[in-house]
Amino acid sequence: MRLETMLKVVEKYDCNYGYGVYADDTETQVVVADWNNEKLETVMANIERHYPATVLHYDDEVTTCSECGNIISTIPGYYGDIPQFYCSEEGPICAKCAEGDDYQEYIQWILDDSSKANTLMNENDLDTNGFENMNGMFENGFHHGQNDNPASILTEYQDKFPHHEFIFHIDHCGQFDTHFQIYGREF
Ligand SMILES: [Zn+2]
Repeated sequence: MRLETMLKVVEKYDCNYGYGVYADDTETQVVVADWNNEKLETVMANIERHYPATVLHYDDEVTTCSECGNIISTIPGYYGDIPQFYCSEEGPICAKCAEGDDYQEYIQWILDDSSKANTLMNENDLDTNGFENMNGMFENGFHHGQNDNPASILTEYQDKFPHHEFIFHIDHCGQFDTHFQIYGREF
């Protein structure tokens, strides 16, 4: 039985479901539903048996990219996992679509905003867009001395470099702390 046909059964149970592919892995088929619902037990077992490569997601673990429609995971998969999407005014945008316009819209979204930080561009992308690292490493977390505050850092750098615009870049994200840097470019 085809996966699509198998999933038609779910509709009869009056349950919401969706299926597609990951935005960052279009080879992997994903089925999304509330798998806690007992009515879906047989469907779930059948999918696992006949489509072992298919990933089953709970409906509160994923969203879809508002540009390409592919599936984005919204929960961390492991310690240190960082988001591979951002929330534009039109809705969530996956990393691939953000890259699609050379990150121009994405940069506008995170620019000069201490409540946001880059998780999609690597150092090369930052360099291509004219950004250079303005400092060493900042740290914020539960460990002693990890008190660096993005809001006051941004104000400090804006005062020191009035002809620069800034973005924060998350270098590393642990279980209890975040290491970040501030990048700037002249305008
Ligand atoms: Zn996309």
